[in-house]
Amino acid sequence: MSTATIPTQTAKTEPCPLYINGEWKHIASDQTTPVHNPSTGEVIAQVPLCGNDVIDQAVAAAEAAFPAWSETPPAERARVLFRFRHLVEAEFDDICLGISREHGKTYAEAKGDLQRGLEQTEYACGIPNLLMTDSLENVARGIDCDSIRQPLGVCAGIAPFNFPAMVPMWMWPLAIACGNTFIMKPSEKVPLTTNRLIKLLEKAGLPKGVLNIVHGGRDCVDALLKHPKIKAISFVGSTPVARYIYETGAKYGKRVQSAGGAKNFVLIMPDAEVEHSAQGIKDAAFGCAGERCMAGSTAIAIGNAGKTVLPALVDVVKSMKVGRTDRPPQQQPHMGAVISSQHKARVVDLVTQGEKQGAKLLVDGRNVKVDDAPEGFYIGPTIVDNLQDGNILTKEEVFGPVLNVLHSNDLESAIQIANRSSYGNGAAIFTSSGKAAREFRHRVQAGMVGINVGVPATLAYFPFSGWGDSFFGDLHIQGKEGVAFYTKQKVITSRWFNFGEGDIWAK
Ligand code: NAD
Repeated sequence: MSTATIPTQTAKTEPCPLYINGEWKHIASDQTTPVHNPSTGEVIAQVPLCGNDVIDQAVAAAEAAFPAWSETPPAERARVLFRFRHLVEAEFDDICLGISREHGKTYAEAKGDLQRGLEQTEYACGIPNLLMTDSLENVARGIDCDSIRQPLGVCAGIAPFNFPAMVPMWMWPLAIACGNTFIMKPSEKVPLTTNRLIKLLEKAGLPKGVLNIVHGGRDCVDALLKHPKIKAISFVGSTPVARYIYETGAKYGKRVQSAGGAKNFVLIMPDAEVEHSAQGIKDAAFGCAGERCMAGSTAIAIGNAGKTVLPALVDVVKSMKVGRTDRPPQQQPHMGAVISSQHKARVVDLVTQGEKQGAKLLVDGRNVKVDDAPEGFYIGPTIVDNLQDGNILTKEEVFGPVLNVLHSNDLESAIQIANRSSYGNGAAIFTSSGKAAREFRHRVQAGMVGINVGVPATLAYFPFSGWGDSFFGDLHIQGKEGVAFYTKQKVITSRWFNFGEGDIWAK
């Protein structure tokens, strides 16, 4: 069954093979779903939708590769990643153009996507150090204790559409550096970037079976979740699916880290520096067309900030140019299209419902047109003010270029509003008061906090530490928690009774 919704196919489609046991495989199947270029609406590839049989093959390959790979010294495993990084650098710009084409984000945003992904690889290159552990002599007389970290076995990763390079690379580089073998399922909306990157990993000398790619949607994910040989699942996506992955993975005995959706608050104090704050909030709300789990989607203007920063923000947002991102770097707009026509319709509908429920549109991007791409999935930047409690826009994760604005009299009530959210990915404050910033970072219920930084997404060496409905599990993605997730600890307590023959103390 094809899930294609837009039948037009004016561009030449690219192949989208699977990668199993070191071979690129094209499966003959009428079970496909289309990949679009969001800038034009054209179909650029058809993704095969894999099920149990393909997952069995991928798991068998990963299982067979595990003994040799897990015994490969960490420094040798790291060397493959060093070579991979070098190969990506050589093709960096071209890979970024590919990201823009299949996702719709601008070239500059695609560079950020790939750069952040590469930083995961750089972190994983330090694996000999990262795997070093604790030891203590004489825990009792003549008895020593030390711990070691060993890989889990076959692990799997399931990614969302919004960062085609970075999010899959939150998963596989560290997992394989730790000595695991891996099955990656990229989003079926943006599968081409992962295929391209893994071709370079293959060229870097990764042994066959260590990293496998499968494609598909729900059936493919279910087959991974329920497979008895898979030890751990890393997931990133929307909250309802993240919760399902966590519950089902746990039911099938797996270790799970499952990152979900978000609704991040940005507080604007009356003493916030106007120009920088307006720019920072614009970038937070409309970067990647708002399709970021760390997007600043709700601003709370405190006191006079509604009269200073808010008008400056509206001005800067009105000057944004929306357009095609499948163009050379010098011809890029400020913002590209959203991922699909369905997503565009959903975002427009949420704004319309919000308006009917009393919200006031300060900037309305619902009817934006891009002349040379009438079929592209465009929505212009939208700012919605005067939102009352209960308005649909305050409840749903919109995941598009829509900024909600609320007002409050003081910092205390603004923190209370932010803390009522069931999500807890990120939160930011714009202020020139150290005291206000300190109060905010101490009390806000979110795992990643920005102070005069609109998108406080953490770098590879810190955990991506969402709270609440933004994360299910114990050990977060990235950093030392990532290493702990992909390894199990063994603690060895040892005592020796006799010296052997030939030891100088043997008598
Ligand atoms: P999604 O949940 O629709 O899909 C994510 C993955 O799950 C895809 O690979 C998809 O094939 C699979 N999937 C979808 N429905 C499924 C189902 N019913 N059963 C099993 N698998 C299913 O998410 P998306 O639309 O691709 O991505 C956007 C979402 O991801 C947003 O909610 C965003 O906030 C979130 N996100 C979160 C983080 C984070 O770190 N917390 C980072 C990036 C994106």
